[in-house]
Amino acid sequence: MKEEIATTLASVGEFPLIREFFQPLRLEGVAGVVAGIGDDAAVLAVPRTQQLLATVDALIEGIHFSATDDPFLLGEKALRVNLSDIAAMGGRPNWYLLSVGLPGETPSQWLTEFTRGLRGCGERFGVTIVGGNTTGSPSGRTIHVTMFGLVGQGRALTRGVAEVGDRIFVTGTIGDATLGLAVRQGGLIGVDEADRRYLEGRLDLPEPRVDMGVALADAAAARGVIDVSDGLVADLGHICTASGKGARLDVGRIPLSEAARRLVLRDPALMRRILTGGEDYELLFTVAPGAVEMVHTLSGRVGVPVTEIGEIVAGAEVEVVAADGERLVLEQGGWRHF
Ligand SMILES: [Mg+2]
Repeated sequence: MKEEIATTLASVGEFPLIREFFQPLRLEGVAGVVAGIGDDAAVLAVPRTQQLLATVDALIEGIHFSATDDPFLLGEKALRVNLSDIAAMGGRPNWYLLSVGLPGETPSQWLTEFTRGLRGCGERFGVTIVGGNTTGSPSGRTIHVTMFGLVGQGRALTRGVAEVGDRIFVTGTIGDATLGLAVRQGGLIGVDEADRRYLEGRLDLPEPRVDMGVALADAAAARGVIDVSDGLVADLGHICTASGKGARLDVGRIPLSEAARRLVLRDPALMRRILTGGEDYELLFTVAPGAVEMVHTLSGRVGVPVTEIGEIVAGAEVEVVAADGERLVLEQGGWRHF
């Protein structure tokens, strides 16, 4: 009986919970932590030459994850999506706050695995917890991560500064996460085992492009910048809306992984899904024609591939030019065929 009680959070209590699970998330050696977890608020030092970036993301059980999802991967992803937002601003992430709402019947093993994911990701990217909040929840688990980063004064990469004639670039490959989700949900069958693992891995463990974001900001090489979370066309639309411009996207140039390429060869209609599916967490950015060469140099330096996929044009629409020349236009609320 005692053993059974000890396996849920209700039996642990709030302060032992913080001591056992959250305080170990502190990383030593992260700059700027004057006072971290354990006081009423964190005290963080922002150097005079830098500006503070702050972003928050929510993960809600039943919406973003299910009770049976791997809590280790959830911990990793909770940080990674926030790291990606800091990367999209050209910043170096340093600190995070964690707020969780957990039902008392949550197995403590779940929290052990969840915090193991947070810890692993924090160590890899050099970010430390600086505070948090733990509360009970009547039903379902909720996770909020607030991430802070630093960027040089006036160097933050924003969405609203794309210019007509800018080339549109994207890092890595597009569509893997949405195809991974389709595979996992049973919507794609007969997929090679290695491809399935690769695509689901891209869904579970997106790679925040921190080094590339920092390189672009330091060199002032990019203009409109966003990370691809809503989908390639939608996020390009966000840049266009913020900049008051339009865009032409060349479908045939969109970089695909080998796994995605194999699936598209089998079923070309999947391209629509690749254009609109989200969660790739690659950087999408526009580059003045004169800075294109510099972007390729930076790409080589940080080891993150980039591909040119289109151009910023006058107007207010994202025009999608398919490989076969068919033109599609995405307007607010849906597709319009020419
Ligand atoms: Mg974002």
